[in-house]
Amino acid sequence: MKITFDGAAQTVTGSQHLISVNGSKILLDCGLYQGRRKEAYTRNRNFPFDINEINAVLVSHAHIDHIGNLPNLVKQGYRGPIYATHITTLLADVMLRDAGHIQEADVHFVNKIRQRHGEFPIEPLYTIQDATAVMPFFRKQEFGQSIEVAPGVRAQFVPAGHIFGSAAIVLDIEERGRKLRLWFSGDIGRPNLPIVPDPVLPSETDYLIMESTYGHKEHRDPDLAAKELCEVVKRTVERNGKVIIPSFSLGRTQDLVYYLHEMMERGDIPRIPVFVDSPLAVNVTDVVRAHPEYFDEEAKAFMANTHSSPLQFPSLHYIRSVEESKALNERKDPMVILSASGMAETGRILHHLKNNIEDERNTIVIVSWQAPYTLGRRLAERERHVKIFGEVYTRRAEVATIGGFSAHAGRKMLLEYAAASRKTLKTIFLVHGERRSAEALQDGLREEHLGPVFYPGLYSTVEI
Ligand SMILES: [Zn+2]
Repeated sequence: MKITFDGAAQTVTGSQHLISVNGSKILLDCGLYQGRRKEAYTRNRNFPFDINEINAVLVSHAHIDHIGNLPNLVKQGYRGPIYATHITTLLADVMLRDAGHIQEADVHFVNKIRQRHGEFPIEPLYTIQDATAVMPFFRKQEFGQSIEVAPGVRAQFVPAGHIFGSAAIVLDIEERGRKLRLWFSGDIGRPNLPIVPDPVLPSETDYLIMESTYGHKEHRDPDLAAKELCEVVKRTVERNGKVIIPSFSLGRTQDLVYYLHEMMERGDIPRIPVFVDSPLAVNVTDVVRAHPEYFDEEAKAFMANTHSSPLQFPSLHYIRSVEESKALNERKDPMVILSASGMAETGRILHHLKNNIEDERNTIVIVSWQAPYTLGRRLAERERHVKIFGEVYTRRAEVATIGGFSAHAGRKMLLEYAAASRKTLKTIFLVHGERRSAEALQDGLREEHLGPVFYPGLYSTVEI
């Protein structure tokens, strides 16, 4: 049997690995590669394998770098099953349609420029319609349910503790009388994240394809991060200001709502209005709220004690319409606004930043890693003057950066993850990590006498 690392190999996005076994081909994840526009467009459009040879696709979770190229796969002719957990299937519907919208809007913008230069227009990578066309191919699975996805290959999803519905994919393979287990970690989460059950560690696996995003560092405790957020909200309310948080729609927004709800229940912060102002975040939250049966024990206990959903409280408002979003500018009372995008590059957050950045009573809270050259990064670095919609604004608002909310395992947890299967483990393949973090993790794993450990290059193949 062979594994070909067709994406998220020596980088973090575009997760995609091809398993060839017993004459079948199984694709693990079909993520969107995110990078420079032209390179990303070419790479996402051209699959490095023959689509007609793929028998089954299995996806680990609903982040776009793990499912975001499915519309393109179906558009180019894939008609087989796409296996995912129940929740991932529901979230994929919401996430892929949004991604289709982004692709359309992006190409519209690019084509305007191309037209000015006398160049022919390009087509979007895929449209909302292409995204919708993926949904009939999904096959919902429950955690722990075992299913034959190809001759001699049984698959099951186990909780990954990363985002709601996220899973590791476990393949039990029988090939010419030989039996082996291959465990694909997907993105590994952390214990104690709100709502999401803790990750299940690998058991008795022979081969491990493992993410390595934070192989070089440890995160701060999420509870400490929540305490910091509490202090930030308190002091902003005291000076009658607004708390503005750029936040990713899937995962981080729900986590923050949960923490704010807890703080209000405990009486740690006043019951000020909280607005979730992002149509995507609202759609995602609708899916999460509708499925408390998948919540972790803490969230279930919280529901039982407060007789309410963790993601619903009287002063919390979910905003879809543009009018309601604009109306927030007229209000002068203290409030929290959570809005996308998470790096403040596009979306409604830009309006809230523009309207609030020059007022010293307000606080802008940065709650996740910000890519270089994004507005989020400029804010995190506390630049005095920033450009929003082409105009320069003087930042007078406080900026608070809070680390520790990450939904990815830190170094220690990654080492524990691999060590859990020490007795049977034959080889580890590190994916989904930049060189610095993957190599640091590789060293750590070797020190623990785990391995051999490989960091395979893009499009490389191994025979196992
Ligand atoms: Zn993820």
